[in-house]
Amino acid sequence: MPRTLSPSTLRAQVAAIIAGTGSTPSEAEQVAANLVLANLSGHDSHGVGMVPRYVDAAAEGGLKPNASVRINLDSGTMLALDGQRGYGQIVGVQAMALAIERAKQHGSCVLSLANAHHLGRIGHFAEMATAQGLVSMHFVNVLSRPVVAPWGGGDGRFGTNPCCIGIPIAGTDPFILDYATSRVAQGKMRVAHNKGERVPPGTLIDEHGAPTDDPGVVVVPQSNGLFGALMTFGEHKGYGMAVACELLGGALTGGGTWHRPADTARTVLNGMLAIVIDPGKLGTQASFEQEAQAFVDWLRRSPPGQGFDGVQIAGEPERKARAARERDGIWIDDATWDEIVAAGAKVGVTIG
Ligand code: NAD
Repeated sequence: MPRTLSPSTLRAQVAAIIAGTGSTPSEAEQVAANLVLANLSGHDSHGVGMVPRYVDAAAEGGLKPNASVRINLDSGTMLALDGQRGYGQIVGVQAMALAIERAKQHGSCVLSLANAHHLGRIGHFAEMATAQGLVSMHFVNVLSRPVVAPWGGGDGRFGTNPCCIGIPIAGTDPFILDYATSRVAQGKMRVAHNKGERVPPGTLIDEHGAPTDDPGVVVVPQSNGLFGALMTFGEHKGYGMAVACELLGGALTGGGTWHRPADTARTVLNGMLAIVIDPGKLGTQASFEQEAQAFVDWLRRSPPGQGFDGVQIAGEPERKARAARERDGIWIDDATWDEIVAAGAKVGVTIG
């Protein structure tokens, strides 16, 4: 039976499983809180459904519980860090905390973070920056089975390489643009496949390079043992952004790019290049606040287009989802729940 769980119940159950991978109680709680926040934000793809993958990755040795960032270089405005394969929810937060501190001190910080295990929802890091009145931009690559086809190509060559921009807006909620450069996140295909749903045209190609609406082509091996692939958003433009994320998040950070055949490893590593800016130190704070607020108000006054309730600003759908799911609970489909229960069993934790 699908179930609806309160955020606190889900956090406790997930924390128990993460602790079973070897994490300290406080690390397990932080990872669980981050995953549940992704569910609350409406991004089930980056929520507790990732737990089975993390359990397998820790068992493989590709994910190292209780790791911290190692500082390879710290020149004040430039920070080069190695996540040492620690939980992304931990090393990503450590890295951003350092970058925020440096940006407040010097006006800006270029952060490179290599070898973080899956960083989850990248918007989490932009929200850390905007909460302090800072702007942040994030370019991320994904070292895992390549699931996204290059524009014009017929198989998966890179990951869902997310890109994120956070901008504080005076007097109102921040702009948090946070998306995979694939048409949809890979995790959303897992969720759709688990729910038995089909996906819109233009999202996927099958293992022969032909268009399909079956999310299973990127979730389970097809008849010939190969997988299909996701397409990038925005045709050649989204493709270009995905490549930029690979070059900046993978090559420039030192974490590396993907250029080898797919393997079956469960470990997912992310590289992230982030740029954090303190508008207060750029000399434009007053006009920035005024102009950003005026522009957002201007957008909101656009009359609703046909089939829409009105204009939203990036970050708003996630905040609305949080309010609704905090109130109503988090719905988990059968297949996802069964996978989580089985993951718990692998580390000796019974949930139900
Ligand atoms: P998505 O397609 O749901 O797009 C989300 C973005 O669009 C958000 O900024 C949201 O506020 C904005 N948005 C949505 N509807 C809107 C509307 N009507 N008006 C204005 N703005 C609107 O997101 P996605 O591509 O499915 O990505 C989901 C999550 O997956 C992201 O948090 C991303 O960081 C994460 N991700 C992580 C990895 C990783 O390896 N760590 C890889 C891929 C994606």
